[in-house]
Amino acid sequence: MTKSSNELDNIPYARQSISQADIDAVIDVLNSKFLTQGPMVPAFENSVSMYVGAEHAVAFNSATSALHGACLALGVGVGDIVWTSPNTFVASSNCALYCGARVDFVDIDPLSYNLSHVRLEEKLVDAKKAGQLPKVVIPVHFCGQPCDMLAIHRLSKIYGFSIIEDASHAIGAEYNSHKIGCGKFSDITIFSFHPVKIISTGEGGMAVTNNKNIGRKLSRIRSHGITSTADEMYSRPNDEIWNYQQIDLGFNYRMSDIHAALGLKQMGRIEQFLDRRRSIARRYDQELQGLPITLPFQIPSGVSSYHLYPIRLHLDKIRKTQKEVWAALHSAGIMVNLLYIPVYLQPYYKALGFKRGYCPEAESYYRETISIPMFAGLTDFQQDRVVEKIREVLLF
Ligand SMILES: *Cc1c(COP(=O)(O)O)cnc(C)c1O
Repeated sequence: MTKSSNELDNIPYARQSISQADIDAVIDVLNSKFLTQGPMVPAFENSVSMYVGAEHAVAFNSATSALHGACLALGVGVGDIVWTSPNTFVASSNCALYCGARVDFVDIDPLSYNLSHVRLEEKLVDAKKAGQLPKVVIPVHFCGQPCDMLAIHRLSKIYGFSIIEDASHAIGAEYNSHKIGCGKFSDITIFSFHPVKIISTGEGGMAVTNNKNIGRKLSRIRSHGITSTADEMYSRPNDEIWNYQQIDLGFNYRMSDIHAALGLKQMGRIEQFLDRRRSIARRYDQELQGLPITLPFQIPSGVSSYHLYPIRLHLDKIRKTQKEVWAALHSAGIMVNLLYIPVYLQPYYKALGFKRGYCPEAESYYRETISIPMFAGLTDFQQDRVVEKIREVLLF
């Protein structure tokens, strides 16, 4: 393979793949009648809902706004409790706080790094006794590896909570032969199209559901609480020509047609992106074998979308600290990342009363792990550089 000069540049941990066709699709929108509220948003929504097997899809201007919208659509408000994983981006948790709810964290599984259904069940037993059951639980498919949704879904029926899957990492991932987002195990699933994710719209997100009412609520929340659907409107005088009503308090969380056009084009290459990520993962699995690290574990009932490839350092067998490994890789141009610091250790959350030691698995995970470069555009040559450098840094 010929190496282009940028293969010698720093290698990011993640990066978008943009083709000329993607660029042309965006330019076409700029030359069209609608920059927003035109045909591209519904076309993109259709493409995602068909792909994941969901009945309704509502595009948002970010996964963060989609998570907020999802909490509101499920009725989360002041006095309610929402639980999520500590091993996630802050948005999975902030969405509950936006609604005035309280948030709490369920420790992770030591193998999958996802919210542990065992810890969840224990916590539910205690919460029931205390009369503090959550209204919504937000499992996060970390790295694109599916959570144990059968177990979480079963618990939701016993303890009466709703489920929002934060699938920001996981479009294209599969669980029990279904695509994440199929709606069999949850009320709403959220995808992110931030440039580091599987497909990108620049900024963007989407909520999918099989529940028509929830779908309608999500659409209204996205657009000021306004509806123009006749059967959602209050009765109007016969001479009224105004054609919409605001019936809830919503937001402007809409995606523009410019973003949606990019998303729609990217959907055309999603299988290609996923195949490439999976073959990069297989190659890392082989090339990094035998080093003093734990490679990502795959649950047998799932197929990961490999948004991330975290390696867990056996610090007792390495003559370097996590920070030294990180620094050595960065100075070699390998821009590894730490994903994630447990959300409750963020200063804002500590000020809410959370303390170090709260979720021990999540804390030892973040003290031992780094995420190495993983994106569809990573070349074999770049991957060789990453592998070589990791060997050197860990073994000497
Ligand atoms: C990226 C991400 C989000 C937020 O996505 P945006 O589209 O950037 O708002 C939420 N949750 C997780 C797990 C993420 O990785």
